[in-house]
Amino acid sequence: AIAVRDVGKAFQGRVVLERISCDVPKGQFVVLLGPSGCGKSTLFRCLTRLIEPDSGTVTMHGTEVTSLRPAALKALRREVGFVFQQFNLVKRFSAIDNVLAARLATMPLWQVLLRRFSEQDRQLALACLDSVGLIDQAYQRAERLSGGQQQRVAIARAFAQQAELILADEPISSLDPESSENVLQILQRAARERGFTVLCSLHQVDLAVRFADRIIALRRGRLFFDGPATAFTSDLREELYRAQRA
Ligand code: ATP
Ligand code: MG
Repeated sequence: AIAVRDVGKAFQGRVVLERISCDVPKGQFVVLLGPSGCGKSTLFRCLTRLIEPDSGTVTMHGTEVTSLRPAALKALRREVGFVFQQFNLVKRFSAIDNVLAARLATMPLWQVLLRRFSEQDRQLALACLDSVGLIDQAYQRAERLSGGQQQRVAIARAFAQQAELILADEPISSLDPESSENVLQILQRAARERGFTVLCSLHQVDLAVRFADRIIALRRGRLFFDGPATAFTSDLREELYRAQRA
């Protein structure tokens, strides 16, 4: 679970996030919506302090992130499954090695250097690739995979990390419609079946309404909507995106 309380951020005196408070409960797939520039990526970065918020608090699984010292913060980030727009895989590594990389942080250095993964880790990695439909591509280099497949490797890596939390900032923005739905389905299942806390930003409102449990929408750095996906009506959608053009 993530709890955000009164988070504020300004860049050079320009307010980008204004007292944002919201919760992402464990086991829910929450989609963050809003027009370009409304502050979605800034909020994502504030959650793990890749950007330091100016004010407010962020709590993850009961740990107050905003008061952690650097070493503890680094350890916490390792427990978050990050899924980005640009896939962020090691291109020359195979799919399975990318997934296994999630285990590196917990291994002694000599094992890392020799890439001595235990059989148990290997089985876990294969099971994670299987659960995103990529068992047949396990030994394919990441650079040879399609965008949708790479994104699924990134999600399998989060599974292997045994992270409780997945943060996905525009994971489908460079994918075709079919791969997009596939990735959203996997994120939805991660929440429902594996109990992950999943926060994902999107530009596609209709996909958000179809797949998300909850929608949080920002407009010009302020909370505009927070409720069940089914309550996000076409009127609200119109208002959210009209505001930006005005
Ligand atoms: P998009 O949908 O296009 O990804 P977004 O909702 O993710 O947009 P942000 O990237 O969070 O929007 O940006 C919010 C605002 O903050 C924008 O006006 C942007 O120009 C500004 N901004 C973001 N990062 C910085 C920075 N490091 N320095 C100054 N301004 C920034
Ligand atoms: Mg963004």
